[in-house]
Amino acid sequence: MNIFRRRGIVDHAVSGIAMLNCKQVNELAGDYHSGELSLAKRISVYVHLLMCVHCRRYVKQLGVTIDSVKTLLEEPACSDKALEETISHITNNKVKKD
Ligand SMILES: [Zn+2]
Repeated sequence: MNIFRRRGIVDHAVSGIAMLNCKQVNELAGDYHSGELSLAKRISVYVHLLMCVHCRRYVKQLGVTIDSVKTLLEEPACSDKALEETISHITNNKVKKD
């Protein structure tokens, strides 16, 4: 980034595509994954990610986390029937011990 800063390129907007800093990319990372960014902002984030390994790792890890949470929310840990059977098994074993 320093070479770009020395040349005055950082934070300079060209045709709506701005050179973003790391803080700005981190703020936009969630919207980048959900596809809620305009094309210009999406390209701006993408260009930053090409140059910044730290943000690239962060955005990639955020994507993995988002996908994991979506999977957990979509797939129940067990079916209602399995849950009822487990509760019944525990309850029956508890009664036998008493
Ligand atoms: Zn960065």
